[in-house]
Amino acid sequence: MLHSPPVWLLRLALALLLLVLSATSLLLFQQMERAQQDAIRERVGFQARTLAIRLENSLTDEVEALRRMALLWNHRGRIPHDEWMLEAQFALDHFQGYQSIQWLDSTLKMRWVQPLKGNEAARGFRLTPNHPNFNLAMQAKASGQPQLSNSVELVQGGRGFVLYTPLYIANDQSAQTFDGFLQGVFRVERLMDKLLEGLDNEDFSVRLLESGKPLYHRERPQSLNELEQQVPLHLLNNRHFALQLSPTSALVKQLSSPLPRFVFGAGLLTSLLLVAALALALENARRADALQTGYRRLNQEVRQREEAEQELRESRERLQLVLDLTDSSRDGLFILDLASREVLHMNQATYSSLGYSAEDFRQRLKDDPEHLLPGFHAWLESVHQAHLDKQSTIFQREMRRSDGSLQAAEISAQLVKRNGREYLIGVSRDNRERLELEARLQRLSHQDGLTGLYNRRHFDRQLSGEWRRLRRVGAPLALLMLDVDHFKAFNDRLGHQAGDDALRRVAAVLQESLQREGDVACRYGGEEFAIILANTSEQGALNVAERVRQQVETLGIPHPDGIGGRLTLSIGIAVSDPAREEQPDSLVARSDAALYRAKHEGRNRTCLWGPNQG
Ligand code: GH3
Ligand code: MG
Ligand code: MG
Repeated sequence: MLHSPPVWLLRLALALLLLVLSATSLLLFQQMERAQQDAIRERVGFQARTLAIRLENSLTDEVEALRRMALLWNHRGRIPHDEWMLEAQFALDHFQGYQSIQWLDSTLKMRWVQPLKGNEAARGFRLTPNHPNFNLAMQAKASGQPQLSNSVELVQGGRGFVLYTPLYIANDQSAQTFDGFLQGVFRVERLMDKLLEGLDNEDFSVRLLESGKPLYHRERPQSLNELEQQVPLHLLNNRHFALQLSPTSALVKQLSSPLPRFVFGAGLLTSLLLVAALALALENARRADALQTGYRRLNQEVRQREEAEQELRESRERLQLVLDLTDSSRDGLFILDLASREVLHMNQATYSSLGYSAEDFRQRLKDDPEHLLPGFHAWLESVHQAHLDKQSTIFQREMRRSDGSLQAAEISAQLVKRNGREYLIGVSRDNRERLELEARLQRLSHQDGLTGLYNRRHFDRQLSGEWRRLRRVGAPLALLMLDVDHFKAFNDRLGHQAGDDALRRVAAVLQESLQREGDVACRYGGEEFAIILANTSEQGALNVAERVRQQVETLGIPHPDGIGGRLTLSIGIAVSDPAREEQPDSLVARSDAALYRAKHEGRNRTCLWGPNQG
C-alpha cells in the first residue's frame, strides 16, 4: 500500500495552488484593467484628435471672413474704409473669438482697427523688425499665404495671436503690389473659449501647449492626468501647438466596466472555493484513510483478542483437565504459599484420604498446622535445610485424620520462589501399604519358608537380644535344641515331600507349644529346631520340652523306621544366667551337647545339660 504524502505537504500544495490561482486572477484583472485603460486612453486620444481637428476646422472656418475680405481686396483693390469697417464688423459679429480686425499698411503701420473700443492702444502701432512677429509677417508677405503667429504680448494688453493675411493691389502693369496685412487679432483665452464653445468637451480638462509650454487651460473637476492624451494642433499654418486632454473621473467611470473587478472577485472566490473544496476533499480522504486504518487496527485487535481468548479458553480447559487429572491421582498434590500459609492448589487426594472436606483441610492447615501435621514447623525448617543442602526432600511424616488418628505419609517437598514469594509444592502419599510390605519383607527375611517359623538369622538376633535383655534384668535364659529322629530314613522311605510335610507339622506343634510372649521357636537348620524361652528355669524348660516331644509323638506321623513306627523328637536343654556369662554361644553348645546325649541315650527323649556333662 502506498503511503499518502504528509498533511503539511498537502496543505502547502493547497496554499501554493491558492496563491497561483489568486495571482492568475490578479494578472487577469490587471490585464483587463490595462486593456480597459488602453481603451479609455484610446477614447481620450480619439476625443483629443477629434477635438483638435474640430478646433482646426473651426478656426479655419472662423477666419474665412478675413480670407474673403483679403480676396476682395486683392481683386478689387483697396476697399473703402466704410465698407471695410462693415466687413470687419460682420466678421467680428460672426465670430466672437476676435479681439480685433486691423489693417496694417504696406509701411507696416496700423491704419484701421475694428472695433476701436478696447483696442485704442493699437492705434498708431507699427510693426518693426524687433517685433517677435516681424519675420512671420515677412514670410506671409513673401509667400502670399496667411500666417498665424505664436502667442505674443498684445499692445492692447494680454496675450494673443495675430493672423497675418497679406494684401495686394494690382497696378497698371498687372503686377501685384503689397498693400499691408489684414490682421485678425485673437486673445488666447477668448479664442479658445469660443472655439471650444459648442464642442462636446465637458468630459475633459483641456490644455493648450505652445512649443511644449502651457498657454491655456480649461480644467474640469476630478480630471485624471494619468490618462492625459496629447495631440498636435495645427492652427492654420502654425504647427507649434499641441492639445492636452485629461478625462474626468466621471467619464472614466462611464467608460470603465466593472467586469475586471468582477472577474477578479469571481476569480478569487472561485480559487478560494476550489481550494476549500480540495482541502475538504483532502481532509475527507485523510479522515477516510484514518478511519480505514483505525478500522483495520480495530479488526486486527479484535482478531488478536479472539485468538487470545481462544488460547485462554484452551489453556483454562487444559488447566482444568490437569486439575481433574491431579484429582484422579491417588497421591496428594498441594501448593502452599508459605508466607500466608494459604493453599494455592490441592487435589482431592490431599484432603479426602484423610477424611476432610477441602475447606476444612484449608482452614486447619492455616489455623493449626501442628495438629494436622505434627511437627509442622520443624518439618518446614528441615525442608528449607534440605533445599539449601540440595539433599533429598522426601520426608516420612504423619498426618492427622479427621477422626483424630494418625496416618503415615510420605511427603516429597519442593521449594519454589516466584515473584518474591515462596511456595512449597508437596506430593503426599499414604505409604501404609508400603510400610506394611516392608514389614512383611522384614518378617520374611527372618522367617523360614517351609515351616513359617523364624529362621536361623532371627534365632541368632533373638538369642543375643534376649541374652542382653536378661542380663540386664538378671533372669535365666533357657534354650531347647530339637532334632527329628531318623529323618534321613524317613525321607528315604517316604520321599522328600512327605519329609517336608512332616517338618511343617512338627513346626506347628512347636509354635503352639509357646505360651509366653517372648518365647520364640525357630528352624535352626534341616530337621533341627530351637526354642528360646526367656526367664525360664530348667524345670520350666523341661516341661515345655516334654510337652512338645509328647505332642509330636501324639501326632502319630507314621515312620517305618521310627521308634514305635512314629516320627519322634530328641530334645536337648541348656539353661544359663546371662548375667554370669559373657556370650550366648556356650548356651547353644550346651544344649547341643544335651541333644547329642538324648540321641545317644536312645532318642525320643529330653536331656538337660548338666555340669558333669562335657
Ligand atoms: P538321627 O536320629 O541321628 O538324627 O538320624 P538322622 O537320620 O535324622 O540323621 P541326620 O541328622 O544325619 O539326617 C538328617 C536328614 O534330614 C538328612 C536329610 O535328608 C533330612 N533333612 C534335612 N533337612 C530336610 C528338609 O528340609 N526336608 C526333608 N524332607 N528332609 C530333610
Ligand atoms: Mg540332624
Ligand atoms: Mg535327625
